[in-house]
Amino acid sequence: MEQFEFIYNGKRYEYYLSRSKRKSVSIVVEKDQKIIVKAPIDFSAKEVQRLIEKKADWIVEKTERAGKMQKERPVHNYINGEVFYYRGKPLTLNLILNRDRNRIMVRKQADTLLVVSSAAKSEEIKNAIVKWYRKRAREIVEQKVSYFQKFIGKNIGDIRIKEQKSRWGSCSSKGNLNFNWKIIMAPDDIIDYLVVHELCHRLHMDHSKEFWESVERIIPDYKTKERWLKENGTRLDL
Ligand SMILES: [Zn+2]
Repeated sequence: MEQFEFIYNGKRYEYYLSRSKRKSVSIVVEKDQKIIVKAPIDFSAKEVQRLIEKKADWIVEKTERAGKMQKERPVHNYINGEVFYYRGKPLTLNLILNRDRNRIMVRKQADTLLVVSSAAKSEEIKNAIVKWYRKRAREIVEQKVSYFQKFIGKNIGDIRIKEQKSRWGSCSSKGNLNFNWKIIMAPDDIIDYLVVHELCHRLHMDHSKEFWESVERIIPDYKTKERWLKENGTRLDL
């Protein structure tokens, strides 16, 4: 990819241009703020530059938003005292090294996340914590589904806990409910909303007016939950 730049409000922005057999230009700002422009082969660099400058407002805004989101992501080194969220409450990591242990143990103990491991290898500790989160997510989501299902009056297929890049949940046409394990870090009222949202897809497979009405009947202030997710979603990560 060729690298170019443009100036906006006195600030320099770099972008990458790739040409291929395509009909139109697409501009994408990635999560790491990298600006990628895809253009048809016969598009000159000058033409691209002109287009970039025309769209500069939008590109810069997107870049700034991506930077802000990136900053909000938690940074964990898996050392003592770090905070991990569980059902909206902070748990402080209490890492205990025990050479006799062959498997890493993770447990919630009052306000701490107790981890007993034979070594302080951050990657292994991270994996063990993810495994613990996934198990808890399954438990809690299953409880909530069986509670809220009564309001829906429809049967469901399997409940699946997954790692999804940009979704909190989904509902398949067969009625299987999929949830991102990361939702277990959110407060309970948010988890409730996400469960109700997917359950309501058993009534309406789209996001129609009727769908939102069925959500509203169970979670009247569902809009504040949506807003919370938009504002805090990137924090629900490791
Ligand atoms: Zn939906």
